[in-house]
Amino acid sequence: MPLYLACDTIILQDRKVGGKVDNLFKDLESMGISGVENINLFVDESKKEKSKVVKKTIKTNDIVYERSVSCPVCNKSFKTTSIRSGRIRFVDTELDLRPVYSGFDPIPYDVVVCNHCGYAGLNKYFQRVSEFKAKKIKAKISANYKGKVYPKVLSYEEAIERYKLALFNSVVGNDTNGTKAYLCLKISWLYRGWKLQLKEEESEDKDLFKALMVQELTFVRNAFEGFLIAYENETFPIMSIDQGSMEYLIAELARRQGKFDESKKWLSRVIQRQSTNKRLHNKIFEVKELINKEVTT
Ligand SMILES: [Zn+2]
Repeated sequence: MPLYLACDTIILQDRKVGGKVDNLFKDLESMGISGVENINLFVDESKKEKSKVVKKTIKTNDIVYERSVSCPVCNKSFKTTSIRSGRIRFVDTELDLRPVYSGFDPIPYDVVVCNHCGYAGLNKYFQRVSEFKAKKIKAKISANYKGKVYPKVLSYEEAIERYKLALFNSVVGNDTNGTKAYLCLKISWLYRGWKLQLKEEESEDKDLFKALMVQELTFVRNAFEGFLIAYENETFPIMSIDQGSMEYLIAELARRQGKFDESKKWLSRVIQRQSTNKRLHNKIFEVKELINKEVTT
């Protein structure tokens, strides 16, 4: 079965971590979250009518700290891990804009989870929750949520679980397609981070590595589909990404799926922009080079 049925009915089923075949949100069932199957991740309003449509503890402990947060959904307080940003050094961004820091990956810590009610969201937007969304979360998540306390230092597996809970909150709360696509992009970055960690540890668990590759690509595809819909229907910036950068990002996500013609189409759009900065130009050049290599070999 294909991973993609349609832009607005994305059902993914080839997760094989631990030998199981799961859907996107299967991991959340252990927390008491139900109704995780057959989730429509993205909603294309314009089409609706027609289609009805191993931790580095010593160093990490210097960087992370716990702070108290008040939950805007249930009003209870809980502790969450934050990053002392002054202690980490930014190195560069990868071609899909994943930021790389020297010796530490802060991405796992960017989602906040309330262990009382199951509300989860990106740190930056956590306090901004509409009444509508809070109501939906209470009914569809909190009602069954068993609660889970995470350690101060997160593994990639734990971080991915938290991000998926945030993504599920976004689905339940009808967040924009751009928001959901952005969460998918960050989840793909987490799978890559996990893979890089395995490499660093010289792990020989080939099955896990393969499963992580599949998952990374699955979330790349989701991010790509969601951003395509968001590009046509939402106002820029989308999750702080301006229009030119989004065109570039869509091109790179297409390339990662082997959709080279589509990638080139989006690259030519962004090249035509006068405002493209040098850093983005360099990345465009790199993506073009990679495509040329793929096509000629
Ligand atoms: Zn709460």
